[in-house]
Amino acid sequence: MIATPIGNLEDMTIRGLRLLREVDLIACEDTRHTQRLLEHFAITTPCVSYHEHNEAARASQLVERMASGQTVAVVSDAGTPLISDPGYRVVQAALEQGVTVIPVPGASAVMAALAGSGLATDAFCFAGFLPPKQGQRRKALAMWGEVEATLIFYEAPHRILEALADVAAVMGERQIVLARELTKLHEEFLRGRVSEVMAILSHRAAQKGEMTLLISREKAAPAAEVPPAEAVRRLVGGGMDRMEAIKKVAKDRGLAKREVYAALER
Ligand code: SAM
Repeated sequence: MIATPIGNLEDMTIRGLRLLREVDLIACEDTRHTQRLLEHFAITTPCVSYHEHNEAARASQLVERMASGQTVAVVSDAGTPLISDPGYRVVQAALEQGVTVIPVPGASAVMAALAGSGLATDAFCFAGFLPPKQGQRRKALAMWGEVEATLIFYEAPHRILEALADVAAVMGERQIVLARELTKLHEEFLRGRVSEVMAILSHRAAQKGEMTLLISREKAAPAAEVPPAEAVRRLVGGGMDRMEAIKKVAKDRGLAKREVYAALER
């Protein structure tokens, strides 16, 4: 499992290069994409494609070759294979057949983003891509928002504004960092409260580039300190039915439902 650069080709490791030269075969997510990397480093090892649609079938063929003594490098288009990228099935199949799996570390957007973010690094939680649909995304944000760690997500540029709107709705105005185009010419870190970063992005003609979103750990205010109306808003933002949320808040606070209604109308 060999990591490749996420932008800057100088991030290819010396060990990774040596192994890409030495192995019998390179299994790539996209052969044309990896070919450009290999050409840059004058590597002529044969390549075969594997990707999320053929990974299951391809995994057993690759493992057969490995079991017969051949060495196979697995790479994805960029960064560390298996990290929001294919590779998992190959590893599973290889381990089932008693084939040794060797990770060759290197670039990964999640680690680069965290290292440059300025947010707490003692505990962090990487949760891959947020769901594309609003309802599921809000549910996911409500769940991850309970975790006391810096939260890290991958997000597509065309969805970033709606995702940030959901972060604000579900988690409130937390401190966030948007890490864009890491290791590339236009690398950028946007830091601020959710609405501040949204305001910066909204002034741009279009959202472009690769993006990693980090959300700071902020101790959730003890339930009793959050006003009842805000507590209802958060639960609804997290996907709970409004009536159910009112009932829950009333029960948690020892209030009558009409008192929670009154707070909502104020
Ligand atoms: N396996 C890769 C890794 O280890 O980082 C991630 C692959 S995933 C399909 C691609 C996503 O990673 C992008 O949509 C973006 O969210 C994030 N990403 C990749 N390269 C990036 C970069 N240079 N700057 C910021 N985020 C990046």
